[in-house]
Amino acid sequence: MIPFAIMGLPHIRMVDIIDVLIVAVLVYYIYRMVRGTNVMLIFWALIVLLISWRVADLLEMRLLGAMLGGVASVGLIALVVIFQPEIRKFLLYLGTKTQLDESWLQRLQFWKHRLQNKPTVNYEAYINACMHMSQLRTGALIVFKRRNEVEELITTGERIDALASSALIESLFFKNSPLHDGAVIAHGNQVLAARCILPVTSRLDVDPNLGLRHRSAIGVTEQLDVLSVIVSEETGAISYAVDGEIHHDISPVELRQALEKYEC
Ligand code: ATP
Ligand code: MG
Repeated sequence: MIPFAIMGLPHIRMVDIIDVLIVAVLVYYIYRMVRGTNVMLIFWALIVLLISWRVADLLEMRLLGAMLGGVASVGLIALVVIFQPEIRKFLLYLGTKTQLDESWLQRLQFWKHRLQNKPTVNYEAYINACMHMSQLRTGALIVFKRRNEVEELITTGERIDALASSALIESLFFKNSPLHDGAVIAHGNQVLAARCILPVTSRLDVDPNLGLRHRSAIGVTEQLDVLSVIVSEETGAISYAVDGEIHHDISPVELRQALEKYEC
């Protein structure tokens, strides 16, 4: 308190600054989550509503204050209902993300693997299959489980539980195979399921040339901590999506880097 009094700001306490900082960080993270989605307009409406409410309160405009307060409290319940998927995503985000520096994360992962004596993942099986399917213009969609459970997704398709090999993956996406539609779910060296149905993204700023395969590959990464790899049937391009962002037309080397980085 004392330093602010010296600066001529006797009413600003340390706790006020911490208060403002916490709110600023919260607003920033909510903004980052909703940026580019159709929730953005509502986010701004909410900010304007809350600021107007506080201003009306400070100026003792009782009628306006009471009205805005009423809208805000009813609106809160409406928001929980409307943004249920976003809230779920936010909670998953809090539960699974570490905000550590990337190089530190890689070092920690290296030691974690060594201590747990984890088997190394045979990424070649996936990469070779994707390269081959890309040349043959065979459409494919593979979702790699990370730290969330994917049981809900598996129940939408056929459980497989088999060791991953390029031949297995290619035959699953072979056009005449009864399992070729939808997504394959994989975790490390295991192919868990095939023909799974993924949630489609509702983002409006996705390239309009991308169809449902790409949109569902993005959608699943918005709701779960997974990485999805797409091979386009139309162009043969290989892409991957993570955290709701798609990285389009990547090379096999970039695919390997992504699979390793995100510990698929
Ligand atoms: P491509 O570049 O391969 O044509 P695309 O993004 O244009 O991909 P579509 O042409 O619409 O997408 O691909 C349709 C295929 O995508 C379907 O046959 C199906 O296998 C898969 N697909 C579509 N929707 C879903 C979904 N919700 N979950 C999983 N797979 C899906
Ligand atoms: Mg298409």
